[in-house]
Amino acid sequence: MIIEPMSPLRTSFPRTLFVSIFIAAIFTIYVLIKYPLWVVPEDEIRTVYLFGKAPVFWYMTLYTLVVVSVALGALIFGTRGYSAGEKRRPLSKYQRWKFILILISQIFFFYMPTFVAGFGNEGGFFSDPAYVPSHKDAHVYVWPAFTSVFWGLYVFVLIPVIVFFFGKRYCSWFCPCGNLAETVGITKLGKKWVRAGTPRGKTSRKLEVFAGAVLIVALIFGAMMLIDGLGIVQGALLGDVNRVYVSVHDLVIDFSLGSVVGVGLYPLLGTRIWCRFVCPLSKGMEWIGRFGKSRFAVVPNSDCKGLKLCTEVCPMGIPVDLYAFKDGKPREQAFGLATSPCIGCGGCIEICPTKALAFAKINDKTRIAAGSPYEES
Ligand code: SF4
Ligand code: SF4
Repeated sequence: MIIEPMSPLRTSFPRTLFVSIFIAAIFTIYVLIKYPLWVVPEDEIRTVYLFGKAPVFWYMTLYTLVVVSVALGALIFGTRGYSAGEKRRPLSKYQRWKFILILISQIFFFYMPTFVAGFGNEGGFFSDPAYVPSHKDAHVYVWPAFTSVFWGLYVFVLIPVIVFFFGKRYCSWFCPCGNLAETVGITKLGKKWVRAGTPRGKTSRKLEVFAGAVLIVALIFGAMMLIDGLGIVQGALLGDVNRVYVSVHDLVIDFSLGSVVGVGLYPLLGTRIWCRFVCPLSKGMEWIGRFGKSRFAVVPNSDCKGLKLCTEVCPMGIPVDLYAFKDGKPREQAFGLATSPCIGCGGCIEICPTKALAFAKINDKTRIAAGSPYEES
């Protein structure tokens, strides 16, 4: 199987050591959050608490600190982000708005609920209750949208409308998983990981089908949950199937792929492995964009010089240069969600020194090519 990164990361002892420690740390953190009983018996659970707060609180706090500090750094100093060694340029208006929204979503929508919940503790803020086994039913898994009217409207109404007008910018402007990927991706280390680690090429594009399979299973399971919830089918069988599915989903999708692989392999495979190859919501948005004729597109112009910087910075492994340049000349082939998993991060646009790329205007319905450059070779 050939998955082609732009230029492979060089291995060295310090790097191997760093990557090993990083992966081990991520694995440990997620075990403590999700499966603490693998480490300590239930009656000693508080030994893994710090200052009376459960590991999930500290994880959310650290996660938010990383996102907030990088986003604030980008906004205040203005020059961080996408650059290719040439003189750094100030953040564009697009990037400024992106990082402002990331800040707002991370703090107010994703961190505050965890933080504020602490004030409801019986013994005060620093006395989290003992561990209660729970499963994560985040909306990105799609099936929770079948069991809650709010998430149903969010996933099946609001997000499709956003996709129609703005493509998958939800992934680079708002989603908490995307917030981490987007901010880590513009740090010095993150840029290296994205450039050298992100899988590219035809094979990696084909592997994205896995996210489609995850989505289909999630939809089937969601429908079963709905049937179960509405009491259309009576009996314990469906309930058992649901319980088994949730347990398997927790272990395979949420813990293994979403957490350990999705974050732990940042240094090896870039920051968007989960988003590209597993996330069911991402694949759903891609399908909505493709079949719902989303207005979103990245549009190359005739100033392209074929430098390939765009492809190097793309965290989703999209061969932007192949849309923009061919046989020694610009080709101006726009692309949207019909042929790519683009999340509208704007990295390719930001880095281009000749300003050869731009997002299509919302009312511009033309020019999106149906074919992918992979189909040409
Ligand atoms: S691909 Fe999924 S997890 Fe990643 S940013 Fe988009 S919605 Fe969030
Ligand atoms: S094609 Fe450009 S805007 Fe789309 S994901 Fe890649 S770098 Fe971001």
